[in-house]
Amino acid sequence: MYKSLLYSLFFLPLFFFSCGSNSNSDETLIEQDSIVIPPPVIEYGFTLDSFQVIRDTIQPNWTMSHMFAPYGVSQWYINQAADFAADSTVGLKYVKEGTPFIVLAALGDTAKKAQYCIYPKNIVEYVVFDFRDSVMVELGSKPNEIHEQILSGEIIKNSNLTFALDQQLHDINMTGEMAEYIAGVFAWTIDFFRLHPGDEFKVIYTEKSVEGTPYSVGGITSAWFKHQGHEFYAFQYALDSARTQIGFFNEEGKEMRRPFLMAPVQYSRISSGFTMRRFHPVQNRWKAHLGTDYAAPHGTPIMSTANGTVIAASYTSGNGNYVKVKHDDTYTTQYLHMSGFAPGIKQGVYVEQGQTIGYVGSTGLATGPHVCYRFWKNGQQIDHRAEKFPTSVPMVDSLLPSYLEYIKPIKARIDSMPVTPYMTEEAEDVINI
Ligand SMILES: [Zn+2]
Repeated sequence: MYKSLLYSLFFLPLFFFSCGSNSNSDETLIEQDSIVIPPPVIEYGFTLDSFQVIRDTIQPNWTMSHMFAPYGVSQWYINQAADFAADSTVGLKYVKEGTPFIVLAALGDTAKKAQYCIYPKNIVEYVVFDFRDSVMVELGSKPNEIHEQILSGEIIKNSNLTFALDQQLHDINMTGEMAEYIAGVFAWTIDFFRLHPGDEFKVIYTEKSVEGTPYSVGGITSAWFKHQGHEFYAFQYALDSARTQIGFFNEEGKEMRRPFLMAPVQYSRISSGFTMRRFHPVQNRWKAHLGTDYAAPHGTPIMSTANGTVIAASYTSGNGNYVKVKHDDTYTTQYLHMSGFAPGIKQGVYVEQGQTIGYVGSTGLATGPHVCYRFWKNGQQIDHRAEKFPTSVPMVDSLLPSYLEYIKPIKARIDSMPVTPYMTEEAEDVINI
């Protein structure tokens, strides 16, 4: 209320001025070049031309007394101002060394008594101390602009996502925010601790800025990531008109936050569950069974239950042919007794959720064709069926056609975006010269 009053008071002369100078198309306006009216300087909503403007900077160990006392503010007023500023809505308890502030005194006042003092709290917010009749303290905010932006980059050897982002955002806070947004969207798709040279990404996002200076990432609206030659798309979509259910979905409408597949084989029955103690049919003794057995016909495809890297595709007398997949630093899965591996499956290969990695068999210690599925969380073998995975927002079938229509132009835009190459330090030096 207070701020809008200020605006209306000080913008009034500006408004009249604008009317005259903007009517360039009006041919009756003559001698335009001979009239020179400097535009009013407006800062924090104040027309500075209407005041004596004193610019000062907070020195080491300053309190509000140091700030205001030289400008004729009584100690009684200063104490009140400090109390009001510490209030939760303003939230200014201490003034920070090196912060520039402005004191506004009346024109012609030789004593330079402060009418207002403006202290920037951060890049967006500022505190207005009004000492005219009494003490008023208000938190103001510069107009926040939100723009859509794009960025892209690549991962090179001995580098990571943060390095690649930092090259383009040039702001440590925004780089951190962006890395978190990207890692959040692709958390169940890509292991960001194992990015590879040649991995690439493209992002469409919103950027918050004040007075033309970007300071924060509003959020990602769509993204693409190429990891080890596999391409992943993510599009933000609201499932209801009130936009309370917003999620990220891939180019087929599948949710990005998808947990592990419930089973590594499609048609099967559980022949033996996870237990710390069971009677082993082959070894003929009591033994813990740290896996879940899915009985299925010989040759049934076995799928990786989530995206990850094959860390073993091997044979032991107990496991038979088995594949072990590391999904991230938390989860690893293993698939035993395969009759054979799927083409191309070997150590180091990246596999997607649902990709066939081998076929059901009975190699190793097995009585009949089944896959023994083992699940590690933080190095501990656990029952995957008892594990609680993050909840997700599933796409409703009836929404799929409109979703696919909605993402069509966005996907085309992402596809046409070139990937900004990683700039080596040498190349950066050349540009800096
Ligand atoms: Zn088993």
